[in-house]
Amino acid sequence: MSPASPFDLLDLGALLDEEERQVQAVVRRLVADRVRPHVAEWYEQGHVPVRELAREFGALGLLGMHLTGYGCAGSSAVAYGLACLELEAGDSGVRSLVSVQGSLAMYAIWRYGSEEQKRRWLPPMAAGEAIGCFGLTEPDHGSDPASMATRARRDGGDWVLHGGKMWITNAPVADVAVIWARTDEGVRGFAVPMETPGVSVREIRRKMSLRASATGEISLDEVRLPADALLPDAAGLKAPLSCLTEARHGIVWGALGAARDCLETTLAYATSRTQFGRPLAGFQLTQAKLADMAVEWQKGLLLALHLGRLADAGKLRPEQVSVGKLNNVREALAIARQCRTILGANGVSGEYPVMRHANNLESVLTYEGTSEIHQLVIGQRLTGLSAFA
Ligand SMILES: Cc1cc2nc3c(=O)[nH]c(=O)nc-3n(C[C@H](O)[C@H](O)[C@H](O)COP(=O)(O)OP(=O)(O)OC[C@H]3O[C@@H](n4cnc5c(N)ncnc54)[C@H](O)[C@@H]3O)c2cc1C
Repeated sequence: MSPASPFDLLDLGALLDEEERQVQAVVRRLVADRVRPHVAEWYEQGHVPVRELAREFGALGLLGMHLTGYGCAGSSAVAYGLACLELEAGDSGVRSLVSVQGSLAMYAIWRYGSEEQKRRWLPPMAAGEAIGCFGLTEPDHGSDPASMATRARRDGGDWVLHGGKMWITNAPVADVAVIWARTDEGVRGFAVPMETPGVSVREIRRKMSLRASATGEISLDEVRLPADALLPDAAGLKAPLSCLTEARHGIVWGALGAARDCLETTLAYATSRTQFGRPLAGFQLTQAKLADMAVEWQKGLLLALHLGRLADAGKLRPEQVSVGKLNNVREALAIARQCRTILGANGVSGEYPVMRHANNLESVLTYEGTSEIHQLVIGQRLTGLSAFA
């Protein structure tokens, strides 16, 4: 799957077509040149040059790459997944920048926006010149967005938004936020320019995870918007949930990138570090760990590829994405933690990427639906009973 990875035991790379391989190789090179040399420092400082990276990613067609028209690349879902995998092999925060821009903010406008909104926002967002964010979570409403408190009311021809959104990726640097709010007609979405009076952002600091990602809290204080800020085709909670399904597909692949980077780092370490007169990799217990992790990683990749092919055939259902998100993030986190044990004390050092990936995956486990929420989605499908309410 990744051409050079010894962990592709099953030769899954052979299941990719030429274009998919090329996309993977290009993103891998980009990550090697632009992310790997700097990411440990970004992580330590809790600061990432989002605008600079977005322009470079935009130039390569990575932003909204699976969307069509309006400057978007129109790639397959599998190619997009492979791009997410390679980006997250660099860092989950960097992949989050691309996921939120393309699968959440751009997708919402592309799928539910008016022609004018699409023309206004999508080309600069695809080019990385405008940054988008997606505000669904609130301080008091995370897993249960149906209870959201942010309200939008009509006032003459305008809309007035009041409330707040929490844990919003890209918010501190965004030009536009897709904000979901309760109205008399149910949940509706709005494209909100961040310079609108009444919008303010506080950057969330002291994260111990996803530190190479800008996260913010958005306050909406009687924000007056023209009627054309409403996304006309988004009615009800199923609209933001459909955006989450898009983004979760990228995560199914992305988490495997973080896991692969842990595995490759660990294999190199275990073959070069000697204890008791032999390399760590020569101990049966180390080999058992490596073998089990490799098997899980390959199973995750098969799952991602299957879901990607379903998406390209237009047949992917939300609960199938839940299977992928639940399994692949859970297994990637288990791999990262196990790899850390093989690196011993060096496993906790920022000189190696393993602990950074493990910490990042804690956020990935929580956002875009926690593991428990995906279990409930799958449970509902199996039993016909909703355990949410
Ligand atoms: C770094 C980061 C970036 C994020 N970026 C964004 C973003 O860009 N946009 C956005 O809108 N949101 C974003 N989020 C928010 C994220 O989607 C939420 O954190 C997530 O949905 C969980 O909500 P919560 O944190 O409020 O946890 P809660 O909903 O309070 O859940 C806490 C715990 O209770 C469990 N739980 C909740 N309900 C049930 C139930 N019915 N049954 C069993 N267990 C349950 C959960 O699984 C979890 O373990 C981000 C989060 C992080 C950490």
